[in-house]
Amino acid sequence: MTKLIQWQEIKNSRVILRLDLNVPIKDNAIESDFRISKSLPVIKELLKRNNQLIILSHLGRPSVEKREASLSLRIVCEHLSSMLDERIKFINLVTDNMAFDDYKIIMLENMRFYKGEVENDPELARIISTHGDVFVFDAFGVSHRRESSTIGLMNFLDYAAGPLVESEVNAAKSILEDPDKPLCTIISGAKISTKITLIETFSDKADYLILGGGLLNTYLYCKGFELGDSLIERDLQQDILNFFESENAKKIIMPIDFVCSSDVSLDNPKTKSISMVQSKDKVLDIGTKSIKRYAEIIKKSSTVFWNGPLGYVEKKPYGKGTESIINVLADSNCFSVIGGGDTVSVIESMGVENKISYISTGGGALLKYIEGKDMSIIKKLGL
Ligand code: ADP
Ligand code: MG
Repeated sequence: MTKLIQWQEIKNSRVILRLDLNVPIKDNAIESDFRISKSLPVIKELLKRNNQLIILSHLGRPSVEKREASLSLRIVCEHLSSMLDERIKFINLVTDNMAFDDYKIIMLENMRFYKGEVENDPELARIISTHGDVFVFDAFGVSHRRESSTIGLMNFLDYAAGPLVESEVNAAKSILEDPDKPLCTIISGAKISTKITLIETFSDKADYLILGGGLLNTYLYCKGFELGDSLIERDLQQDILNFFESENAKKIIMPIDFVCSSDVSLDNPKTKSISMVQSKDKVLDIGTKSIKRYAEIIKKSSTVFWNGPLGYVEKKPYGKGTESIINVLADSNCFSVIGGGDTVSVIESMGVENKISYISTGGGALLKYIEGKDMSIIKKLGL
């Protein structure tokens, strides 16, 4: 039987360390090293205690057969090596020579290149486990995924939660359990169907609910507003319609104006009040009056939880609403927790990471945690 241990007590051991180094990569370059930098503390601390490390991570969603070169972890390995100023031995196959030689760190190729990883095949976990003495799980982003390199290894080695997983869980708990009121939750992004449970979870607790993007469009569309050619989910499940009719939906703060475009190229942005949107318009961001209204709500709040950008942030100037609200949060004293890949990249591009109380590395995992779903790994880790 394996048991739960404390990561701080591990010394002089071969540690198998599961991290989430699943960073965005474009044209062979790392777009954001946020997740890598969040993984440095556990690596440095474990090295200080004279441990040797075998680092595991996944990258994207490759196929086992194809082993797409664009999803190799090698570039991440090189980046991590330079951030740590420490050589790392990169290994393609777990059947290759796994000796440390004179290295302190080994990194395995993308875990999802290995057959059995996503199926949580015990044989893969067993083979990997033979190379280590203990297992440290510090990959919050996959804490909702039962795979060989996540929960599988816990059946073969004593295991510990790493410090990043601990702090992620603490941040989520502080939002869910007894947050300082008023609590404002901002839930936005593309599709409401992926976020309805999140909205429902918060709609009882929150004092103010701000929706944005496709979620807001869909809400207004159901309320009978003209939304033109905007991103709308028209085919809605009953639970979403029920929520729109519920008492809690009254907590939704109505926007005042939008930034729209009727060009195919999405150029020529025009600000319109929400009742002036026409059939050819696409709503792509909130307007300045809406920004002001949302800012006032945030300034009144003691706690803010935010997931999902408020506009089509991939194209200028439609990131303005999101950026303005980030600035409001950066200047405020409220306790703020922000998660979601796309939301976090905007914060990073603005360089205000340090002014936000907590930025989560876990997009989907954070949402699952808040929804109280698929958390068997977190439970096993005693968190
Ligand atoms: P996160 O990754 O932060 O959880 P999502 O993936 O749910 O966020 O949603 C982000 C996407 O939603 C972005 O690609 C953004 O462009 C899109 N989006 C937000 N508002 C709009 C809008 N008004 N029109 C079109 N796309 C939008
Ligand atoms: Mg996203």
